[in-house]
Amino acid sequence: MKKQFKAESKRLMELMINSIYTNKEIFLREIISNASDAIDKLHYRSLTDKSVKIKKEDFAIDIKIDKESRSLIISDNGIGMTKEELENNLGTIAKSGSFDFKNSNEKQKDIDIIGQFGVGFYSAFMVASAVKVVSKSFESKEAYAWTSEGIDGYSIEEAEREGYGTDVILTIKDGEEFNNYLETYNIQSLIKKYSDYITYPIKMEVTKSRLKEGSKDEYEEYKEIEIINSMVPLWKRNKKDIKEEEYNTFYSDKFFDYEIPLAHIHTAAEGTIEYNSLLYIPSHAAYDYYSKDYEKGLQLYSNGVLIMEKCADLLPDYFSFVKGVVDSPDLSLNISREILQQNRVLKTIANNIETKIKKELLDMQQNKEEDYLKFYKAFGMQLKVGIYNDFGINKDKLQDLLMFYSSKEEKMVTLKDYLQRNKDYKDIYYACGQTVEQTLMLPQVEALVDQNKEVLICTDYVDEFVFKTLGKYEEKEFKNVCSDKIDLDTKEEKEKLEKKNKKAKSMFSFMKENIEVKDIRYTNKLKNHPVCLTSEGEISVEMEKVLNSMPNAEEVSADKVLEINENHPIAKQLEKLYKEDKDTLKDYTKILYAQARLIEGLPVENPTEVTNLICDMLSKK
Ligand code: ADP
Repeated sequence: MKKQFKAESKRLMELMINSIYTNKEIFLREIISNASDAIDKLHYRSLTDKSVKIKKEDFAIDIKIDKESRSLIISDNGIGMTKEELENNLGTIAKSGSFDFKNSNEKQKDIDIIGQFGVGFYSAFMVASAVKVVSKSFESKEAYAWTSEGIDGYSIEEAEREGYGTDVILTIKDGEEFNNYLETYNIQSLIKKYSDYITYPIKMEVTKSRLKEGSKDEYEEYKEIEIINSMVPLWKRNKKDIKEEEYNTFYSDKFFDYEIPLAHIHTAAEGTIEYNSLLYIPSHAAYDYYSKDYEKGLQLYSNGVLIMEKCADLLPDYFSFVKGVVDSPDLSLNISREILQQNRVLKTIANNIETKIKKELLDMQQNKEEDYLKFYKAFGMQLKVGIYNDFGINKDKLQDLLMFYSSKEEKMVTLKDYLQRNKDYKDIYYACGQTVEQTLMLPQVEALVDQNKEVLICTDYVDEFVFKTLGKYEEKEFKNVCSDKIDLDTKEEKEKLEKKNKKAKSMFSFMKENIEVKDIRYTNKLKNHPVCLTSEGEISVEMEKVLNSMPNAEEVSADKVLEINENHPIAKQLEKLYKEDKDTLKDYTKILYAQARLIEGLPVENPTEVTNLICDMLSKK
């Protein structure tokens, strides 16, 4: 009796059958991977349940080709499936959550789905016109066959199979394009390409040739069963024997990322705790990386048997972008998630891994600048968040990984570089803004740059919080050139300015009545600009902008100070107006304040009034 597929399985199947996906060959990887998983399950049972007596050496995946019937058969002696399991596992998609079917009419989307996720068992229908799965569960005496020729449905019948395990029998589609899947050499190379690190032997009969006995130049062909895959997982092999390309293929197969990673860290640790690890630093952030959906973690194996797909405890949050595998014989297979968290072995491995990652990143920063900048563009934000999270407890570990744009070098530099060049500075100068260009044009920045001072230009909204958390770097404080008092003046200059400010005190209090600022004062820091806006206290103007843009934020406000360039002609003009025409001074004050806000990237509070004032002024003679 024929049964119908569930709706979404049908949809996926349709997609497979009519697939224009060029990489159809991945079907073999998917089926072999299922076979390996099934063996894993039984292997695991044999290790944890003494009554199961199977030796690891006996496990294998067998591949057979029968050209006549156009069959490709993949057999395993794994855990097998009962009738119910055949029904449940093959009649519906296990991981339906991964797919968004809403838009899958678009062909490009289909390809993305196949390319990014691989699609498991159903991918067989890309190359097969019929699929038969004969399986006998380890738990059961009966074998069953599941058969389907596509979307019409499937049927399940009793069948014969000698031992437990599963045979997947594909009837390869007719047509030139599919004939390859019936050629031994081609299947062989697909196994090498995609399934080389499967830990069980993948066996296949291959044709070889040898010199005929007694002959010097006559060859004969003979057949022999061969293990095609190298079996030893990549992470257990000797670094020296592994090609860069193998590392990269492993990465893309395992983590479904088809961009070459920036670096890999391959470690074989011996001693009190033994483990192998193979870690990768991706070259870009996954589409969901900065979202709640992203799950960090490394694959955890115990002697080649997978314990956990994503072990989060192996990675600190600030290195959550790292992908990889950890394998240790010192971890028990039966370990539960809860116990794992407290596990001493795991903690030690996690600490070692963290040190290794940091070392690799510092090394990249120094020796492969371009790579590091790529990394930093993708994950710099994660490092910065790592600095101010948890009350800054990890700041010392992470501060040397930071980079900022330097006004002087005109490129990204580290804090260390900055101090090395500017040993005589009392502080580390920085400025914040939307873009590098805009920030460089801030009057306070321009003034410092004119004095040949190096300023770090910060354009990420978290930057200032990072500096506040760091507090100091090698005993030097971070100073925001737009809000903190920058002490560069000589004693005479200071006294002169103080005098001038004292004299203008009553004028400034008059002006203050017309705008919302904490203070107004003269400055000698500006060169050409008439005014700038600074702040006093903990909250800078830039922080005000960031904090107020957060959802559900309570309104905060920096204590702003309007600073007027004492050497600019406007200063004289203001003093003149204070004596002769106070009404006009009011208008001037409003315009100057609006100007200062605009330069700082703040909105003008009363745009209509201010623009009208400007127009009035323009209309006067
Ligand atoms: P996935 O492997 O991602 O779960 P598949 O569609 O490839 O999805 O397979 C569905 C399920 O069918 C598997 O999870 C597994 O339970 C079962 N299965 C597939 N192949 C085998 C096999 N060779 N032996 C035992 N179970 C299998």
